[in-house]
Amino acid sequence: MKEVKGISRVCGLIGNPVEHTLSPTIHNYLAERLGIELVYVPFHVETGYLDQSVKGAFGLNLLGLNVTVPYKTDVLQSLTDIDDLAKRIGAVNTLVRVQDGYKGYNTDMPGLYRAMENDGVNLKGETILILGAGGVARAVAMMAADKAKEIIILNRTIEKAEKIAEEINGYMGRKVVIPQLLEDYKKLQEDKKYLAIQATNVGMHPNVEDVIIDDPDFYKRIHTGYDLIFNPFETRFMKEVAKKGGLAFNGLKMLLFQGIIAFELWTGTKVSDELARDTYQILLKETGNLGKE
Ligand code: NAP
Repeated sequence: MKEVKGISRVCGLIGNPVEHTLSPTIHNYLAERLGIELVYVPFHVETGYLDQSVKGAFGLNLLGLNVTVPYKTDVLQSLTDIDDLAKRIGAVNTLVRVQDGYKGYNTDMPGLYRAMENDGVNLKGETILILGAGGVARAVAMMAADKAKEIIILNRTIEKAEKIAEEINGYMGRKVVIPQLLEDYKKLQEDKKYLAIQATNVGMHPNVEDVIIDDPDFYKRIHTGYDLIFNPFETRFMKEVAKKGGLAFNGLKMLLFQGIIAFELWTGTKVSDELARDTYQILLKETGNLGKE
């Protein structure tokens, strides 16, 4: 049991629901290993109480907060400052205490970038398929826009993909994002291999047999498939990619690195590669996946 002292600083997660979060595992382990007096607690925030929660957290001298569904965009209104990348993405998942309130950051995207680096996946010059056009897909497209050659966003609701394309192409000053209807995956170039990032919730526990595109032919075109889901550890999407000889990864390392970056922002302490590896092992153990990676 973690010892809480008078000098312990508190960080936490606000969202709804928060009951299945793995973030306490990450932060409490990092704090313990680094000898930092910090405890991390999940806070279930009911609808209508977001602003009060952020102000209350400041009043209670909380060092920082993570923010999860459904508050990543709404919380912007409760902040005193917003980091440029988070502003561009339009969503924050990390609040850092500053003099008169909290400054918002987005560590999900740098987290995904570090996870991909760690897995040897390079975005540079790639033609990337993003499956989905929700909040995370939008952020992924923003993160990849200055590295990829081209990004094709495939979504069931074309209007959402079009809106993201319009915003990012406007920002980049070039047509890097192409919106496409999900079912039009058949129109993708036959002779080309893509890096695909699965950013929908299709296939997430308990619907583990679901897959966003149920056509083996599609997976022939994927050289690397990155599913942002981590429960189950191997999604149907990942299985389909692997069946056709592609490399497949899940979103657990993204979760790890978004946490590590938040921890570094809160404490000003750099987390070494070795400690990141150890924390990943703890996450694998916690999720019952030790030895499966
Ligand atoms: P979101 O805003 O709700 O967007 C969901 C997307 O999935 C939309 O594009 C939606 O399409 C699509 N979708 C949902 N059900 C579908 C279906 N049956 N058929 C086709 N498309 C469907 O969600 P989000 O916040 O972007 O999150 C997306 C995923 O990222 C989640 O699985 C989440 O677990 C994952 N995530 C992972 C991490 C991590 O650290 N690894 C962090 C954050 C999020 P429409 O636009 O047509 O509705």
